[in-house]
Amino acid sequence: MFRIAIDGPSGAGKSTIARRLASRLGIDYIDTGAMYRAVGYKMLKNGIALDDRDGVRQLLDHTEIDFSDGKILLDGQDVSSLIRTPEISAQASACSALGDVRVKLVELQRNMGSKKSVVMDGRDIGTNVFPDAEYKFFITADAEERAKRRYLELKESGQKVELAQILTDIRKRDHDDSTRAINPLRKAEDAIEVDTTHMSIEEVTEFICREMNR
Ligand code: C5P
Repeated sequence: MFRIAIDGPSGAGKSTIARRLASRLGIDYIDTGAMYRAVGYKMLKNGIALDDRDGVRQLLDHTEIDFSDGKILLDGQDVSSLIRTPEISAQASACSALGDVRVKLVELQRNMGSKKSVVMDGRDIGTNVFPDAEYKFFITADAEERAKRRYLELKESGQKVELAQILTDIRKRDHDDSTRAINPLRKAEDAIEVDTTHMSIEEVTEFICREMNR
């Protein structure tokens, strides 16, 4: 059994790379960002404010999150496409700074990775969720390049978006994610850093596989 931790800022290509690695190795892929997005989505839908601590706790007590066939299930409902909007990105980032949310999701993540081999991507996997993961990678790219990738992805899924706005959003999330008090985005000391600005998905996947076989 082994765990591969993939951390890094928004839009660096973590999830695409993690999904490829998982299918190549025949193990599960767990997208922890989707879990924060699902909680953010449910808070918005239920009108729970970020500073409503009791409301957030209650909501968390009655929330089930699972993955099935690459889809994320929130209380049994597939919310995979509903959580990929700029509004939910901002809400996920905001609610991920709440201690109660992190405690609940980190516990779930540790459970998911305790029984089988997994590739898990996020912001704090190598530093906090699995500090003893067998393999750790920190994936980065220039903010402009990440914004361009996100823009193309959202446009392809039919959303009306502007590149300049996405770059502004990405810079804000980078700042918020890396300066929050609890489990901020940070490269683990023993993680291998990969700057993907000038690399294709194939090149990054190959690089990681080579590093794992060393
Ligand atoms: O990776 P993704 O962009 O889907 O993550 C959405 C948000 O969830 C991030 O901006 C970050 O604030 C939060 N997150 C986190 N810890 C993780 C994964 C995501 O705080 N392990």
